[in-house]
Amino acid sequence: MFHYDGGLKLTKADLAVDFRRRMPRAFISHAHNDHMARHQYALCTPATSKLYRHRLGERDVFELPYRTPTEWGGLRLTTFPAGHCLGSAMLLAEDGDESLLYTGDFKLAESATSERAELPQATILVLESTYGTPYYRFAPRAELVGQLVDVVQAALTADRTPIIEAYALGKAQEVTKLLTDHGIPVMQPKPVWEISQVYEQCGVALGKVILFEGLPREGHALVVPPGAHRGASLHGVRRKCRIAVTGWALDSNSRRRYGFDHAIPLSDHADFTELLEAVRRVDAREVFCTHGPESFVDELRKRGVNAYRLEVPASRRERLLF
Ligand SMILES: [Zn+2]
Repeated sequence: MFHYDGGLKLTKADLAVDFRRRMPRAFISHAHNDHMARHQYALCTPATSKLYRHRLGERDVFELPYRTPTEWGGLRLTTFPAGHCLGSAMLLAEDGDESLLYTGDFKLAESATSERAELPQATILVLESTYGTPYYRFAPRAELVGQLVDVVQAALTADRTPIIEAYALGKAQEVTKLLTDHGIPVMQPKPVWEISQVYEQCGVALGKVILFEGLPREGHALVVPPGAHRGASLHGVRRKCRIAVTGWALDSNSRRRYGFDHAIPLSDHADFTELLEAVRRVDAREVFCTHGPESFVDELRKRGVNAYRLEVPASRRERLLF
């Protein structure tokens, strides 16, 4: 059904999945830079197609809308929402005997700006397991959203400019939507703002957002990409209140290390509890973990799951069973 060749490949269709190097044919689960390249021919959802072409220029794309099975290269391919960012998809590939579900980056909790994840059953599960240690268990989303709104409002009341650092694609739009829903208008620098325009074209309204051109406006929050404080674009902003929004915020050192005033673990990735929930729901015969810690494979095995690291070649997997 699949093999590992520096990444996941669906053997029958010779389809590369989320490769970072250019391939003749590749599925792109979502438009984050660590999941795509300038492929000769790409398969992805319509929204990912827009974002992919926005980021990497006009390219050949075959679109796979959610929940629409398509015969392709001897396989039946179906995408399902992954709840990670706009257009993010899981891929179900069926060859008549076996079925493989590739999750890509995903989360199960609801999102303000992307469809909630759906997990079909499959015999083989390839699981993105970034937060695969018990330490990473996030508080309920509503509580974290409340924290975000509170710190932003407190900063505005204290006459400081709240600067929220969030990935330019996905997190930035979700944070923006959460703030505008709570009556807080948002400014975004051009790279973020342009991606927000693609969201709007795809029918995701983000509320009151304006382009940031160097000077803050009273009562507005600023949503910028990570690391923006090091550039010149924020020189015009006095009395900053820096807020990080990332799952890594659970790591108490990270806030101090990067000089944030606040760090809120609002993540686009499944936490440990959600990863276990995903494994339970898909109920696969074999689970292959990728992107996460080695220990997550052991955690699954302790629970009686046939789990492996994806990166291990098939010939060695047999031996790992014993
Ligand atoms: Zn991602």
